Amino acid sequence: MNPRIELVKADITTLNVDAIVNAANNSLMGGGGVDGAIHRAAGPELKEACRPLRGCETGSAKITPGFKLPAKFVIHAVGPVWYGGGKNEAEQLASCYRASLALAAENNCRSVAFPAISTGAYRFPFEKAAKIALEEISRFIAVNKLPEKIYLVQFSDSDMENYKRIYREFCL
Ligand code: ADP
Repeated sequence: MNPRIELVKADITTLNVDAIVNAANNSLMGGGGVDGAIHRAAGPELKEACRPLRGCETGSAKITPGFKLPAKFVIHAVGPVWYGGGKNEAEQLASCYRASLALAAENNCRSVAFPAISTGAYRFPFEKAAKIALEEISRFIAVNKLPEKIYLVQFSDSDMENYKRIYREFCL
């Protein structure tokens, strides 16, 4: 286990961290799931801050302030929709984590919280997605001082239990 990575069960909008990552869509104008929850908690200014960004490509990320959230920043990352694995989904998800971590580091974020990007409405298989997240985060923090701490946030007990097992196996 890496002390810089921590699994937590929480509503990501409540976390007092420097940045939370949003599982956004290409429009960056809000949506369902964690995206909707983040926009509701941040307030309407978040949408106004996203509008001039003119969307975001799949596999990339853009940053805004957190407005009413306890988090200073929201990093809007666009994960891939899962189409079965033959459409570069794994690389796009990996790229999403790399881009988010790079933005967090550039903005001097010491702590950042990620939801399980693409594993909800975008149907990316949970275990595959978790392994990609752990792989990319481990690689990034091995060569970067920031962010010092990464929280992997699960919203349900079953996802939390699953993630714990996957993390234990990943560390073997
Ligand atoms: P995507 O479209 O990228 O699949 P979703 O929002 O549908 O995004 O789901 C991504 C993950 O975020 C899922 O595991 C879902 O359970 C989780 N999630 C939903 N709401 C929250 C929340 N408020 N805090 C943390 N995680 C959440």
